[in-house]
Amino acid sequence: MITGDYHTHTTYSHGIGSILDNAKEAKRKGLKELAITDHGSGHIFFGINKNALPKMREEVDEAQKLTGIKVFLGIEANFTSTNGDVDVTEEDLKILDILCVGHHRFVKSSFKDKLIYFFPNMLLGNCVTEKVKKRNTDLIVKAMDKYPIDILTHLTYQMPLDIKRIAKKAKETKTYIELNSKKMCFSPEELKILIDEKVEFIVNSDAHKSENVGKVQRALELIEKYQIPKNLIANYEKMPVFKKFRKQK
Ligand SMILES: [Zn+2]
Ligand SMILES: [Zn+2]
Repeated sequence: MITGDYHTHTTYSHGIGSILDNAKEAKRKGLKELAITDHGSGHIFFGINKNALPKMREEVDEAQKLTGIKVFLGIEANFTSTNGDVDVTEEDLKILDILCVGHHRFVKSSFKDKLIYFFPNMLLGNCVTEKVKKRNTDLIVKAMDKYPIDILTHLTYQMPLDIKRIAKKAKETKTYIELNSKKMCFSPEELKILIDEKVEFIVNSDAHKSENVGKVQRALELIEKYQIPKNLIANYEKMPVFKKFRKQK
């Protein structure tokens, strides 16, 4: 059913298995594709070393060769500012196959962004003011314009959003919205908006242990419960096409 898992972590950030361990598990579970997406270097505790990508590229290519499944090198980058900045460089983008971006709380940022972006979301949880919610939404919309984002990971988790605006922008920029099997965060109302706007979803495990690669049961249950049309799911009985590979056509 699910052809690939495009959000998995390894020891390069705070996962437990290696790149090859994840690839072997993906193969064992019958997946055709896998992405390695460790945390961007801006994460204070779990970020990859800034210079790790070339070595990761080698390991990804080796894992692909050894297992025979397609292995992509991705990253789960962090939003770093209200200007829609993300912790990847032009150089990083040349090495990466896939760019995932998510909101994480402990990220290197300016004092101003700590004050107006990180702290309000951290302190107020789901009770943030409309002003903070708008600022959150604005920054993701800006990021979608600035960067070739393939997947927005666990949207609305610890970061309330105007999901309709995000959905429209995701449609326009062909950005996949993740159904994260580990962090289920959409309300039924938000899911309905995403379905009505016909965004493209992608189902991922967010595995931090190799044994959890391809474990997406909770996302599949959500799909059944809310009757999410299967044709809106990029990795359901078909394969997603990421931006880097679209351009080459
Ligand atoms: Zn994350
Ligand atoms: Zn993750």
